[in-house]
Amino acid sequence: MPPMIETRAKSQNDVGTFAVRDIKKGAVILRECPFVADLQRIMIHFHTDPAPTGDPAIDAEIRSLKREVESAIHDRQCDLSRMAETTANGGDVADDRRPPPRARAALDKLNELAVRHEFDSRPESIQEKWLSLHDAFRVIPSGSESPVGISGLVSPKGRRINDTIGTSLGKTGTGKNSGRFSVRTARKDESGVITMEDLWIKRENLTTVYGTCRSNSFLSGMLFERACRINHSCRPNAVLMPVEKLIRYLEHKFGDRIPPDLMLAPGEPNEHAVLSDREIRAGEEISLNYLGSRDESRSTEARREILLQKYGFNCECEACERRECC
Ligand SMILES: [Zn+2]
Repeated sequence: MPPMIETRAKSQNDVGTFAVRDIKKGAVILRECPFVADLQRIMIHFHTDPAPTGDPAIDAEIRSLKREVESAIHDRQCDLSRMAETTANGGDVADDRRPPPRARAALDKLNELAVRHEFDSRPESIQEKWLSLHDAFRVIPSGSESPVGISGLVSPKGRRINDTIGTSLGKTGTGKNSGRFSVRTARKDESGVITMEDLWIKRENLTTVYGTCRSNSFLSGMLFERACRINHSCRPNAVLMPVEKLIRYLEHKFGDRIPPDLMLAPGEPNEHAVLSDREIRAGEEISLNYLGSRDESRSTEARREILLQKYGFNCECEACERRECC
């Protein structure tokens, strides 16, 4: 079966997935198992377990962050009840249900530690896939060592260090290296000898563990090698769903008379399918809705704000350009 899709550059910094032939509505475009499947469960474990890593220093940092969250929420509640008292004669109290900024910052740091702990436990082949994904945030931690992905470098000597993992040493450059980050790279020659080298690399050529995770994780925290390279649209032409759920849907719809072209082999545990949601023409970009299925329609501003906060991009899909609710 010839491939239905290809992933290629859309612009210098953007990759997209495109149909290489016409695709019928309901066709399975891609089947794939996530290479990381359970980030949400891991984050919850970090929030609830008093010593989730077993490393006394990191566990102490985690407990301190949890105290920070609790104290920020407590302070907010005190502020709100004080405001309610002073406006008891009918004034409005701002009803912002999100955690206060100080608590959000601590929660974010807690999630970052959980994701980093998970990354460190994975084999190098998985770490390379992880760091090869798009990073919309590129916040390089300062003052401490952290793994980074390296891509898009053009070396005048033809030395190839792209698509590999380096270690950011937590230092930024000055003078001619201003705006660059110190990264330790390892190069293996043909005889297997490894040479370490420290390079100054621009932010745009680096990806981070937490940034790639935030930019790409689907549903309950899954990372896919190929499906994560499908861009978002508020009016998508494809959907992502577990293969088992799709098979159950087809059985429900057709009983034991599933049309042969819709028959699916059983899935691996956690295997997902990207399914066309309408006819797609050759050359058209494949898109998914990162906002998930929704009961209510949202304004362009509301969708853009969520996408910018959560995934780090400003949506310029057709629906957003036409300012449509969806
Ligand atoms: Zn949009």
